[in-house]
Amino acid sequence: MFGERPNPAADRAAVRAHLLVHRPNLRQPAFTRLAPTDLRSLFEQYDARSFGGTLQRTLAGTPLTFRVSRRMTNSLGLTYRYSPPLRFEIVISSTLLFGNFATDDRPVLVCGLPAHDRLEALQLVFEHELVHLAELLAFGHSDCAAPRYAGIAHGLFAHREHQHRLITPRERAAEQGLHVGARVRFEHNGRRLTGVINRITRRATVLVPDPKGARYSDGRHYAKFYVPLDALEPDD
Ligand SMILES: [Zn+2]
Repeated sequence: MFGERPNPAADRAAVRAHLLVHRPNLRQPAFTRLAPTDLRSLFEQYDARSFGGTLQRTLAGTPLTFRVSRRMTNSLGLTYRYSPPLRFEIVISSTLLFGNFATDDRPVLVCGLPAHDRLEALQLVFEHELVHLAELLAFGHSDCAAPRYAGIAHGLFAHREHQHRLITPRERAAEQGLHVGARVRFEHNGRRLTGVINRITRRATVLVPDPKGARYSDGRHYAKFYVPLDALEPDD
């Protein structure tokens, strides 16, 4: 099922050329929109080129769906196997993709390979998820930290690592002085509020002292606000 490919970089370039021409959302390497149909197109291209059609054949009608997630901020991609009834899903984080490839960022590695632009990062993470799918189809489980996965990913795609080193919203926020415990200001319904960051995902959870709010472990009462990171200012 898992042959080696003589030139993974050439496969990747051919898929890229196809996407740039045929997917309206992906006409630019710095694309700003991504839809499940784009992911399906990636699947079809890679299945044909890198897997010789084995994935589609092995699925044999088992549903495979694609999802673009804004809420996923810790993983760039995930592959799920659900049962019963058996079905598979590949999810890609738009928040991480679109939060990277600004100027002056540190280099971004996906699967241990440098991603020069957003489209290349999308392709690399999608290749990673396809190896998960292939393992799930063949063995019923998949672990990208295990040697079997590494062997397949290297043979098909020349991947060197199973982790991705993108810049997360948390890291991006920390560059601006926004970290858990930091005092921040923000506006809410026309009022200026000051509080402390309690948690950071796509948004920050900010606790603002409020006698009517819930009691927290420090014995004080706070009201909780979910604030977009770019709406926060460090309060110093
Ligand atoms: Zn993985």
